[in-house]
Amino acid sequence: MVRLRFAPSPTGYLHVGGLRTALFSYLYARQQKGAFIFRLEDTDQQRLVEGAEDNLIKMLQWAGLEIDEGADKGGEYGPYRQSERLPVYHKHAQQLLDDGNAYHCFCSSETLDAMRDEQKAKNLPIRYDGRCRHLSSQDVEEKLKVESSHVVRMKIPENEQMVMSDLIRGTVIIETDQLDDQVLIKADGFPTYHLAVVVDDHLMEISHVVRGEEWLPSLPKHLLLFRYLKWRPPQFAHLPLILNPDRSKLSKRQGDVAVEDFRDKGYLPEALVNFIVLLGWNTAGDQELFSFQELIENFSFDRVGKAGSIFDNEKLNWMNQQYLHQLSPDELFERLIPYIRDTAFADQDETKLRKVCSILQPRLVTLADIQDKLSLFFEESPQLTDPELIEALREDSAQTVLRAFQEEARNTEAITEDNFPAIMKSVQKSTGIKGKKLWPPMRYALTLEKNGPDLPLVAGVFGKKRCLRMIEQALNL
Ligand code: GLU
Repeated sequence: MVRLRFAPSPTGYLHVGGLRTALFSYLYARQQKGAFIFRLEDTDQQRLVEGAEDNLIKMLQWAGLEIDEGADKGGEYGPYRQSERLPVYHKHAQQLLDDGNAYHCFCSSETLDAMRDEQKAKNLPIRYDGRCRHLSSQDVEEKLKVESSHVVRMKIPENEQMVMSDLIRGTVIIETDQLDDQVLIKADGFPTYHLAVVVDDHLMEISHVVRGEEWLPSLPKHLLLFRYLKWRPPQFAHLPLILNPDRSKLSKRQGDVAVEDFRDKGYLPEALVNFIVLLGWNTAGDQELFSFQELIENFSFDRVGKAGSIFDNEKLNWMNQQYLHQLSPDELFERLIPYIRDTAFADQDETKLRKVCSILQPRLVTLADIQDKLSLFFEESPQLTDPELIEALREDSAQTVLRAFQEEARNTEAITEDNFPAIMKSVQKSTGIKGKKLWPPMRYALTLEKNGPDLPLVAGVFGKKRCLRMIEQALNL
């Protein structure tokens, strides 16, 4: 059975790149009827952020990922928080020490700084020079007895060419001479990510490790640890970077990267998921919209590209619109409620709110767009502000149309969605104005927008009184 884990560090929020990693693991786990595991990599005590774990889990749930085993859920392979597994790491660090694959290093930070400065000055690669590798066991024992601060480092073999395989990159070759004797246990007694990840992936019987490309340089270290501990390594898939349109690495500085920001802006989880999976995974044909089930069925690592993928907001907007427009009126309204709640119109009559939302549906790119659009229907007297439209409404023919409509409307008992076209027909007849000179002025006057929602629908919800008020206002510009 395949077992895949998503193993974020609790550093505050779920990055869209993290969501992609989680998704690829999840899709494959579901497709292969395996398990999806959530493991919290919280061994860096300086980077802990309160509430981060809950937030990560909440955002995964929002995106539709169900965790089978994990920190909040339990499971046979727990605990799933690394901070609760310290004895396990120490046991394996000891094993590495006993077998001569790791050593104690007593170098102080001053010593390390001096080493770095010297290497810099000589233009050498910056790395630990291995000076504690050669301490005698007697030396080590004595130093440990006086409790000198120390770390445990792994021994990297010299002059070895490591040939590794990656599900996305194929064969990857790295020379061990490029590698540092990685710290495995820090001075505070906590393991580093490198030791913990290997121990946990083994003990949790992880079959496939999916993670960002930034971890590729660490792969040889991890594979060495698997070798030293005589374990069979899982398969690896290192995902390409996600880039800004200018091809720089996607970062908070250039816009939103937290999944919760996208939720708050009104992106639908199914749209964001679809969009994010396509950042890297290329489909065979032209299809771009995939249901979750289709993603599960179709996903494969061999269609994940090596090149970085550009995060194109326009495309995300397009996709969100596609999903939004497919929602039934009831579903749409349910999803809009949290956004309406933040407006001044939350307490309006629900039937009317529902009607207005369905009229606005084709005009929404995100759910949050509803917030600016409600005022047209619920504000006492919404104002036209666009100078171009004001200009257009001041034209003689526009004024003629508006006046004729006023006339017709006054003589009509009620204005409804159904009789609005007939009223317009009469306006056309009485004024002799039609087409581009007839409809736009009415649209600007009633919707205050160039491409507002469907006119008969708007007029129907407005009713006679509000229609007349809007026309009056347009006549007085
Ligand atoms: N804790 C690492 C991260 O947050 C996980 C890397 C891995 O999956 O091995 O990126």
